[in-house]
Amino acid sequence: QNVCKYYQVGDTRFAASDHISFTIEKGEFCVILGPSGAGKTTVLNMLGGMDTCDEGTILLDGECVSSFDSKRLTTYRRYDVGFVFQFYNLVQNLTARENVELASEICKDPLDADTVLAEVGLSDRKNNFPAQLSGGQKQRVAMARALAMDPKVILLDEPTSALDPQMVGEVLSVMRQLAKEGLTMLVVTHEMAFARDVADQVIFMDGGFIVEQGDPKQVIDHPQEERTKQFLARFAENN
Ligand code: ADP
Repeated sequence: QNVCKYYQVGDTRFAASDHISFTIEKGEFCVILGPSGAGKTTVLNMLGGMDTCDEGTILLDGECVSSFDSKRLTTYRRYDVGFVFQFYNLVQNLTARENVELASEICKDPLDADTVLAEVGLSDRKNNFPAQLSGGQKQRVAMARALAMDPKVILLDEPTSALDPQMVGEVLSVMRQLAKEGLTMLVVTHEMAFARDVADQVIFMDGGFIVEQGDPKQVIDHPQEERTKQFLARFAENN
């Protein structure tokens, strides 16, 4: 609710997040769209307890995350949120299975590593090290690691942006399956067709603001705001 994050650059203070308000229901799949520098990662990081907001209130499951002290934020990050990053962030000298187990060790009620690896279609690769896996497989291990923590929400920051085009599909298909299973997820992505198809809600950000939000077919196919129209037109030109 009304979340602001300011940065000081030289003499000027600017808002990377400018009175952002939105609600995600349990089981909802929400996509954040927007150009580079729009403030998407800032929103994800604040929601994930990796960054704090300067104004406003962030609530997860009735708890006020924005008033947590650093100790409480540590347990919040370990127990309540799963994060999937663009560049996987796997431990290189541990196997896929060990990477998942490592995350399980720090959280409260982890799910079984073999079960979550099966869920992302990697039962046969669990003894491989990251260097022996493709980008798409590495990202699926990262997703299994987030799933194993059995978090209240999974936040994914451009999970397919670093992948070769032929590997994007396998990661999108795991996300689609997780959405169907009713996981609560917030994803920053540029995969427009996927967002239109799978999301329950789309938020379009630009310049630290939410410009437009709502039903994906409404926002993507019938945008109301000029800035959304321009972004989508540029996207269509380049794809
Ligand atoms: P997006 O994810 O949409 O590309 P970000 O949330 O990463 O956008 O960044 C929003 C704005 O905040 C950008 O202008 C970025 O340069 C700025 N920004 C992000 N982190 C910092 C920081 N630590 N210090 C100063 N400016 C920052």
